[in-house]
Amino acid sequence: PVDRTPQVQEARLKLPILAEEQVVMEAINENPVVIICGETGSGKTTQVPQFLYEAGYASSGGTIGITEPRRVAAVSVSQRVAKEMNLSHRVVSYQIRYEGNVTDETQIKFMTDGVLLKEIQKDFLLSKYNVIIIDEAHERSVYTDILIGLLSRIVPLRQKKGLPLKLIIMSATLRVEDFTDNARLFSVKPPVVQVDARQFPVTVHFNKKTPLDDYSGECFRKVCKIHRMLPAGGILVFLTGQVEVHSLCRRLRKAFPYQKKSTAGGEDDKEDSVEEIRKFKKSRKRRKVLTLPKIDLNNYSVVPVDEGDEDRDIDSDDDAATGSDLDLDLGDGDSGEDEKSDLSLPLYVLPLYSLLAPEKQAKVFRAPPPGTRLCVVATNVAETSLTIPGIKYVVDCGRAKRRFYDRITGVSSFRVTWISQASADQRAGRAGRTEPGHCYRLYSSAVFMDFEKFSAPEITRRPVEDLILQMKSLNIEKVINFPFPTPPPTEALAAAEELLIALGALKEPPMTGRLKQQLAAKLSCPISALGRVMATFPVAPRYAKMLALSRQHECLPYTITIVSAMTVRELFEELDRPAGSEEEAAQLKGRRARFLQMQKVWAGQGPMQKLGDLMVMLVNSVCADAGLYVDPKMKPPTEAQVTYLRQIVLAGLGDHVARRVQAEELLDDKWKNAYKTALLEDPVFIHPSSVLFKELPEFVVYQEIVETTKLYMKGVSAVEPE
Ligand code: ADP
Ligand code: MG
Repeated sequence: PVDRTPQVQEARLKLPILAEEQVVMEAINENPVVIICGETGSGKTTQVPQFLYEAGYASSGGTIGITEPRRVAAVSVSQRVAKEMNLSHRVVSYQIRYEGNVTDETQIKFMTDGVLLKEIQKDFLLSKYNVIIIDEAHERSVYTDILIGLLSRIVPLRQKKGLPLKLIIMSATLRVEDFTDNARLFSVKPPVVQVDARQFPVTVHFNKKTPLDDYSGECFRKVCKIHRMLPAGGILVFLTGQVEVHSLCRRLRKAFPYQKKSTAGGEDDKEDSVEEIRKFKKSRKRRKVLTLPKIDLNNYSVVPVDEGDEDRDIDSDDDAATGSDLDLDLGDGDSGEDEKSDLSLPLYVLPLYSLLAPEKQAKVFRAPPPGTRLCVVATNVAETSLTIPGIKYVVDCGRAKRRFYDRITGVSSFRVTWISQASADQRAGRAGRTEPGHCYRLYSSAVFMDFEKFSAPEITRRPVEDLILQMKSLNIEKVINFPFPTPPPTEALAAAEELLIALGALKEPPMTGRLKQQLAAKLSCPISALGRVMATFPVAPRYAKMLALSRQHECLPYTITIVSAMTVRELFEELDRPAGSEEEAAQLKGRRARFLQMQKVWAGQGPMQKLGDLMVMLVNSVCADAGLYVDPKMKPPTEAQVTYLRQIVLAGLGDHVARRVQAEELLDDKWKNAYKTALLEDPVFIHPSSVLFKELPEFVVYQEIVETTKLYMKGVSAVEPE
């Protein structure tokens, strides 16, 4: 029996999934695989593990495992569930990459999907689990897809052994046909339990105009209007990236400052704050008089019918909100908002994005200080995996930052693109959890209609060499036969197989026969001994190879640093990030100065120069406040070590060599200062941020090519032809 507090019990009873407990549990008891669909916030993640626990699924010494695509969710949900069940984190635990609080007593374990994949490599039958829940399956993250494919085979194997494993797939949308109508995946169609949404209505307001560049500014203006004109209730803003999130937070804090009251303050102080709250309440009361417009209960996902398509009356006054307080449709853009500080209406502004420190993330779940309005400025993380209490208004810029890859050349670019209609509806849904809400879309309904309906599963959009290596290390040789929920394109599989062969991770196929046979042979190459070592590193195969080689000559600390810098680039972008406060600005300034100083010292050592940007990465991490694992006393590598390091880097990036275009080849001006690569017809350039930008060595290796105005190589170092 679980000993929950009355408050917890009361809160749980409000969750739609509680009403379905019996249906959910019957489906699970009677079927090996069950799919549960329910709106975000309906209680799937926090409650289903508790149902299973109470039904005895963790009693026979087996564990209930739940995978999350995001670290944020794994940590915060495990804490929430432990609290709801009144159990210690020794029993309800989490595990993410290298951090966790799992013990021998753990009975409910939240983990990232990558963690479970590693466990399958150690124990294919997952014998310590009685149940696996794959959460947020609608996100279709690559690991989620692979896990579902693997589990579709593990479940029948466990059945045969007489030790059945239950598989539960949970999705926030009803679009699950890739799992249900896929006989290769599940020969018996799994039942779908649908949890009643019981979502409060959300009215969607479209902008008449769609700001093409300054959507951040448009967000700012919209939040100002909501805060000044509309009744109490939290605001959730969707932007695309960390930098935008911070800069909007800063602007909003400046416009509506919130000062912490010191608890030790005297009478005056207290009176002040009481007065302030009273004033705020009064102003709130005044606003309370506003009634919410009539809302179609089911229309939060479609264009509101009688709200009218604003594009139709495009001739009407731009600023529809002027003069009408009752109009919750706030209209587009400028209406003479100023950025003057408004002290009477404190806004409690919090950022939220996946790399934010956990203790800062946790703040969004707590009630805002009395007399303030909560405003969370978030990236995509708030779309489905976290439910922030008390949100009544959503401001959606309609965009997300995504990485795009060219399947053939591997050229990648970060682009801010329109989201899908499904994502826009998820975002809108965040406004209706606790009472009717409003979603302000900063784009016109015509633009919305042009959005793709759903985004394609990630596995079809990115290189797959890391997955193929993981699968091969599970001895799945013919990856082409793997039961993917949605298979990646064959070219992507072939490209991955080829790269892994080139890196020595797979055994070379016999190169005879016709081309087609060759390709088929390539798609079923077994893993090599080096490949097995590489598969144990939690980084892309190129970097795994570098790490595998660097035990020699004490190069490991340097390689670890370089690989970390190449793979966790956000740590280093910190240096370029606009500061959130004066204090932060001073800190950043100090850091930049220290960095430049170190760079001088290290770069002064002749051979270091040749490491190019890799040297910068090393230096950068010696400035220890990057927060990365480094030895702050790390000495510059010796001349011999520099040579080894360059060989190591070349071993991982061997197909990423570029040669400077010779003078005699300079027929066209566009080849000035350009490099030629094996993969691309077009000229590529050393990125201006590179320390080799002016130097232009004859041969270089690059980490990646990114397309902005031109094709640029990033992470460049010089090599000498052998
Ligand atoms: P779902 O998985 O269906 O999206 P969840 O189980 O994550 O739903 O959330 C159910 C409810 O539990 C949310 O609406 C939220 O109010 C509450 N909740 C979840 N996590 C937390 C938390 N860390 N702190 C406070 N409340 C939470
Ligand atoms: Mg959930």
